[in-house]
Amino acid sequence: MVSPGIDLLKGEIPIEQESVVLHEDVVTGLVLVDIINGFCTVGAGKMAPREPNSQISRMINESERLARLFCEKKWPILAFIDSHHPDKPEVPYPPHCIAGTDESNLVPALQWLENEPNVTIRRKDCIDGYLGSTEDDGSNVFVDWVKKNQIKAILTVGICTDVCVLDFVCSTLSARNHGFLTPLEDVVVYSRGCATFDLPLHVARNIKGALAHPQEFMHHVGLYMAKGRGAKIASEVSFHAPKKP
Ligand SMILES: [Zn+2]
Repeated sequence: MVSPGIDLLKGEIPIEQESVVLHEDVVTGLVLVDIINGFCTVGAGKMAPREPNSQISRMINESERLARLFCEKKWPILAFIDSHHPDKPEVPYPPHCIAGTDESNLVPALQWLENEPNVTIRRKDCIDGYLGSTEDDGSNVFVDWVKKNQIKAILTVGICTDVCVLDFVCSTLSARNHGFLTPLEDVVVYSRGCATFDLPLHVARNIKGALAHPQEFMHHVGLYMAKGRGAKIASEVSFHAPKKP
């Protein structure tokens, strides 16, 4: 059941979503943000869901469906994996996704991606995948991926809509606007392919220092913020093959 608060929010900050068609003659890259056990698999860690969650399940299903289509077409995929050194906590979050643990692995439905030639995996110890792609020598794995593949559009899915997805999208849009990501034009966020965590107010009140994080509400806000920065928000994604002459 959708709460009246969500309807109120959607009335105050409505999001115009689009039906996005991916043309096969325009190179599109799929970016998977942190679809890993530590954020998605029930009981996998401090930041994983405690019980099955329909928004997260939908996100995984939609991401897997798109990943299979992109692999069939041999289109580029970049998968971010949150991965932290045990001695470097990421404030304000509790310890999570420590490198080498199963928390810091793709969810079972996506593990096959590790063997696909069109897939780049980037382990990052940073909320923002753009910043987290920076190497010691100053180069950036994400920027290089866009340029090497001559990507003109990015389709983004993953978790959390209002945290890692939003930060990545905002940085990417700023970088695009500054000419760092040529030939990238469009940054698309697929709403059904994104999810966020659920920490209702009555639960957060009993956790010292925790901020309430109602799931549907924050998912909507995340999409709205991404839209405000210039992303396209897609309610559905389809593919269009060019006509053979
Ligand atoms: Zn993290």
